[in-house]
Amino acid sequence: MTTVGGLPNGLPETVPARMVNEFVYCPRLFHLEWVQSRFASNDDVEQGLYVHRVVDQPGGTIPDPDDIHSEALAGRTSRSVWATSVQLRVSAKIDLVEVSKDGSVVPVDYKKGTPDREGRPWPSDEVQSVLQALVLRDAGYSVSTAEIWYAESRQRVVIPIDDGLEARVRQTVKDLWSVAASDAAPPPLVGSPKCPRCSLVGICLPDEINALRHRQDVGSRRRRLVPSDPDSRPFYIQEQGSVVSVRGGRLEVFKDKDKLDSRRLIDVAQVCLQGNVNVTPQAMRELLSREVPVCWFSYGGWFSGMAQGLPGKNIDLRRAQFTASPETALLIARRMIEGKIRNSRTLLRRNSREDLASEVESMGRLAAQAAQAEGNPTLLGLEGVAARIYFAHFSHMLTLDSDISHRQFDSNGRSRRPPPDPVNALLSFVYALLVKDVTTTLTAVGFDPYLGVFHRPRFGRPALALDLAEEFRALIAESVVLQVINNGEVTSRDFLSRAGGCQLEKGGRRSVIHAYERRMNHEIKHPLFGYRVNYRRAIDVQARLLAAHLLGEIDEYTPFVTR
Ligand code: SF4
Repeated sequence: MTTVGGLPNGLPETVPARMVNEFVYCPRLFHLEWVQSRFASNDDVEQGLYVHRVVDQPGGTIPDPDDIHSEALAGRTSRSVWATSVQLRVSAKIDLVEVSKDGSVVPVDYKKGTPDREGRPWPSDEVQSVLQALVLRDAGYSVSTAEIWYAESRQRVVIPIDDGLEARVRQTVKDLWSVAASDAAPPPLVGSPKCPRCSLVGICLPDEINALRHRQDVGSRRRRLVPSDPDSRPFYIQEQGSVVSVRGGRLEVFKDKDKLDSRRLIDVAQVCLQGNVNVTPQAMRELLSREVPVCWFSYGGWFSGMAQGLPGKNIDLRRAQFTASPETALLIARRMIEGKIRNSRTLLRRNSREDLASEVESMGRLAAQAAQAEGNPTLLGLEGVAARIYFAHFSHMLTLDSDISHRQFDSNGRSRRPPPDPVNALLSFVYALLVKDVTTTLTAVGFDPYLGVFHRPRFGRPALALDLAEEFRALIAESVVLQVINNGEVTSRDFLSRAGGCQLEKGGRRSVIHAYERRMNHEIKHPLFGYRVNYRRAIDVQARLLAAHLLGEIDEYTPFVTR
């Protein structure tokens, strides 16, 4: 990291005492939160905010240090006091400052939980409180103790500040600044009981990163620290001429004066607008401020763009993405295309009505060659050969009971717009949904989705999303197409054929979106980590592993490949 005037680039001159608390809890957590500005909430964070609400409103004043030597001032308090020590390079927002009879002051910190079993403060809480005391001392006050109020057990814990404790805390602040000066976050804790309670566990992926760093046996870990399924869901709106507005914490969809649909904002992961659907400025502002992406599709389902608040703050990741060498990009692309071919091969092997042993064997060979390809042209060629074998036999996976199976499937028509037949129309529609989800995931992780490792950058093309989508095409998109045809959820009546092109009609689109969301919510055993995740979470984990690789935390990128 470059430094400006001796400071790590872009960081303020003082660190909040709250961040020193995080540093003591876990140096990686501190780096992610303060240096990289990554934030995520969880129940612990929300409860902490709730407990703090009583002291977050400033109130009362404490006298200046020179005017405090009067017993009459004893007991006076001030809430939410900001103080900074330039010498210590720490700032602190102190929940409560109390004046004692002897003219000294006592900082009191409010915590939601309990002290440890012996009734002592937790090390991270102790450091934060001592820093509050030291900051007040540097402002000229006499301070000999600090206190913590633990709300859950309703205990007040007193911390006497002696020279030994003060020296330890000062050293901690020095250690923190040297970690802050580093580009890379410290490695994750190993098997720590702190991780399940950490709000950044879904961003940090401690067990997964450790497993891939070979510090632990891959597959031996069964601890799933992130929920298998994100709580919120995409909200699709495809009624032409409808308007999305916001009222009372809900998104509402109106057409003329009729309310067509409504969702709580907290349940919405993204808003997907198909065709001519309007969003009011108020709803747009609310969605952007909550970092909920709004995605636009053409009426026919082409993913045309998205809007998503301010760009991600994870500048180090974008810098690593933009400065990755062609060799690094090729190594990643090789694994992604290997993953794509292996997953296509598995789908074909499991679902084909015909015996395709030799084709399956060829695809296995092509996957192995892709993993060793010497350059992008070779990789492109291998991917093309594998795709030709796969799509030449795609119709063998369709039931003969469907009237779609009897229509011509042009296996060369996948890149044509409009698609020439129902199967191609379905594939295009579902690919667009998948690329939309991979794009929003990559953006949330902090990538620029437009710079890829395999697909060349082209105006308006989310190349990195297309890259990462490769390993999920067969598992998600093509599986959905097989499902909707083979289960009769879509029939030839759901398509409109015109001027050589074929398009899904409204009812068919609705059925495919349902099937797609079902697939995204489908839980599988993670092939590397052994715990259960749904596909939506699996894409998120892959994006974070790709980030960890580009940031130098893990040696190689491993694709998501089912057995
Ligand atoms: S999940 Fe664990 S290793 Fe990662 S930041 Fe949190 S406490 Fe640290």
